Amino acid sequence: MSLGDELARRRRHVAPSLSLSYEHPLQIARGEGATLIDTEGRVYLDLVNNVCHVGHCHPRVVAAGAEQLARLNTNTRYVYPQLATYAERLAATLPDPLQVCFFVCTGSEANDLALRLARAATNNPVDTEAVAVITGAYHGALSSLIPLSPYKYRGRGGQGPSERVIEGPAPDTFRGPYRGPDAGQRYADALGVAIDGAVARGRRLTAFYSESLMGCGGQLEPPPGYLSRAFRHVRRAGGVCISDEVQVGFGRVGSHMWGFQRQGVVPDIVTLGKPIGNGHPLGAVVTTRAIADAFANGMEYFNTFGGNPVSCAIGLAVLDVIADEGLQAHAARVGDVLLKGLRALQGRFPLIGDVRGAGLFLGVELVRDRGTLEPADREARAVVEGLKDRGILVSVDGPLHNVLKLKPPLVITADQAGWFLEELAAVLERHSALVGR
Ligand code: PMP
Repeated sequence: MSLGDELARRRRHVAPSLSLSYEHPLQIARGEGATLIDTEGRVYLDLVNNVCHVGHCHPRVVAAGAEQLARLNTNTRYVYPQLATYAERLAATLPDPLQVCFFVCTGSEANDLALRLARAATNNPVDTEAVAVITGAYHGALSSLIPLSPYKYRGRGGQGPSERVIEGPAPDTFRGPYRGPDAGQRYADALGVAIDGAVARGRRLTAFYSESLMGCGGQLEPPPGYLSRAFRHVRRAGGVCISDEVQVGFGRVGSHMWGFQRQGVVPDIVTLGKPIGNGHPLGAVVTTRAIADAFANGMEYFNTFGGNPVSCAIGLAVLDVIADEGLQAHAARVGDVLLKGLRALQGRFPLIGDVRGAGLFLGVELVRDRGTLEPADREARAVVEGLKDRGILVSVDGPLHNVLKLKPPLVITADQAGWFLEELAAVLERHSALVGR
């Protein structure tokens, strides 16, 4: 079917608040490794999809899901070995005392459940509680999470912050107020001051959600020391520390399996989604025995699909592939190729204001002027379209819509990374020629 017909069909019966990527949206027919292939057979390098983590349609993941789907799919009210095996294997990747798992279907569900756990752990009444978040953060699409997602409540159609939310400044050493060696401490202390303010107004801190590297917030990695000091402020006020690893977990950062490990902290609750099922709808919450027990007040927690044997088989296959193919170390290696290449381009093109990130979670912030840091949002969109025309898919995000996000499937090869760098150089060259510098 032609693109026009397909879009008309979509408009008739699909909700209008869904968006499409690119001026001329892509009609993708299949995926393989770090590539997507459209209905006419054109191959695109996919630097957007951090969900198909071990590669699009990885044969081991597909086989594990298909075999289990053909044998049995049921729910956690029955005993089947896949559930305990998967919980055991997942817990083994996390530091003590994070050892008790809940299984859900999305990152949003994981973050919503984390809030319920934090309430159980703190015993805070909902009407006087406060929840701390970081400016620019996104934690999910549920009605409990939009008010905890500055990315949404401060964005288009958003209703602004509520009384209940405490917002700490984004720990942004490129654009934010603190850029020196003590930046981590200063951003954390600014959060601490905001927490103290809420407590002085009679609020009780239930939780602090942090992304160990911020995704929608513009691929920001907090400066060293930020999370440990922020966690100290949160725990001093009686709150629970939740690490949202939905974007960055499962070895993507290269140096570690989990993003929070880069900051040397251990959260009280970790929420997982996106890459955990390589595209199958799976999510998880992992917490301490004490918090899980505080939550077990007699009310059953039942999630119809969470932790079903098919999901567990798929989750296990993903963990196996990450280990057997050495994908964490691979992310570190290819991430390094990309970082070095991008820094070289930053030397050539003034449009590139900042290059940042870890492993295969990288950001390129575009500015019109390196002195004023005027955000180059239109230019970022043009770069994305230009790259797409050359067969490379990247996305734009950040509160100022000027950060190129790179978060490909971990199986991207060094050659493919080189291909991207060449095409980016060509697109930037063209832009420089157009603006005359
Ligand atoms: N947390 C973070 C950090 C995310 O980026 C997202 C999704 N973009 C979510 C939570 C929500 O996950 P889902 O879309 O699977 O509900």
